[in-house]
Amino acid sequence: MPKKELLIQGGTVVTVDPELGDLPDADVLIRDGKIAAVGRHLTAGSDTRVIDARGRLVIPGLVDTHRHVWQGAIFGYAPQLSSLGYGPAILAGVSPKYTAEDVYAGTLWGALQALDAGITTIADWAHNLQSAEYADANLRGLQESGIRGYFLYGGPGPAGDDPNPSHPADARRMRDEHFPHGVNGRLRLGMGLRGPCFTTMERTIEDFAFARELGLPISIHAGLAGTSDTILAMKRHNLLGADVNFAHGNQMSDEEFDLVAASQGTISITPSTDMLMQFSTFPATGRAIERGVRAGFGVDTVCSAGTDLFSEMRLALAAERSRANADALSRGEAVDKVDLHQRDMLRLATIDGAKVWNLEDETGSITPGKQADIAVIDMRSPHLDGHGDAIAKLVLGAGPADVETVIVGGDLVKANGKLVGAHVDAARELIRKTRARFTI
Ligand SMILES: [Zn+2]
Repeated sequence: MPKKELLIQGGTVVTVDPELGDLPDADVLIRDGKIAAVGRHLTAGSDTRVIDARGRLVIPGLVDTHRHVWQGAIFGYAPQLSSLGYGPAILAGVSPKYTAEDVYAGTLWGALQALDAGITTIADWAHNLQSAEYADANLRGLQESGIRGYFLYGGPGPAGDDPNPSHPADARRMRDEHFPHGVNGRLRLGMGLRGPCFTTMERTIEDFAFARELGLPISIHAGLAGTSDTILAMKRHNLLGADVNFAHGNQMSDEEFDLVAASQGTISITPSTDMLMQFSTFPATGRAIERGVRAGFGVDTVCSAGTDLFSEMRLALAAERSRANADALSRGEAVDKVDLHQRDMLRLATIDGAKVWNLEDETGSITPGKQADIAVIDMRSPHLDGHGDAIAKLVLGAGPADVETVIVGGDLVKANGKLVGAHVDAARELIRKTRARFTI
């Protein structure tokens, strides 16, 4: 059955498309799940559903390039944890107690948490997969939420007898069973590998060969505090490539950033996790951009950090200015501004994030022909209404509660400020059951 035509009418459309720019008092027409037209005075058919966007910003759906989505149900569970305490408390503590049903519930809830905040594309670094049943449960949670993105097949936590186990061979079954044509609905498959920071180089070489044999993109954690020279070591073993995504990147040297850029690898910048969990000092934002690395934002560790990309944009900009100031003050100087702008933050959270996962032809901007992945932000509340720059207000002041409408592939997943669908209440019940068992 063809999807209902939608017309988002009368908003300030921030396309993030360099050729279209910002369009005040403009409309977006959505047909067959795609953006059919953007402009003024578009006409609605008699059967078209009209969404009033006057007083709102219409932006591309946000892109989270790195998140452990199953942790959606335990947001705020471990807010005092640093990176040192995270492994024992969460990966070796909470994770092994999760059943496959808990992983399904947590992932569905976590994906809804993202959609509620205007995130329409996510890369789920799934690292609570204790068996094939868990992997299927995690994938089902993503599918039922309606979100777009990647299921990154990680492993179980490090609780087993072997501290450096091989990557689960079940990834091959997952590919053949669920992704025989590459794309399954709105989802694609990739690999979340331990990489040199969390296993031996020998194991890393085997895991990378496995991922590449399966033809799947790779994501690893790298360049966080306590690790060093990861990229140089990977270069020596000929492991770098355009198919490798690195989460964090804070501690990378300039030479390492250059190697990532030259190999066309990508970096997921994770400001709230980096700073709240003391994964490092400053997020990699400015340095990654300066060195020409393709980069986007990620929320990462939901149990101890943030949940939405407005916070990541705000934290990244503040941290970048602090970094510039710290450098200058150490030389007895002062800076009055940095080059990065709030619009750079929105770009990182949209089209640049899409580029990290090679999805820029599909999403990341409001461009005719792309999938209709859109968030409508109500700017009429006191904390967002004023005479300032709209993008500045969005980056500095908005939160998930301001996201009024969310559309993924032409489907309304949030309307009038509320997530829609029977699965929302069902997911809430499921995570309550998980919580009751854990007495969190
Ligand atoms: Zn992570």
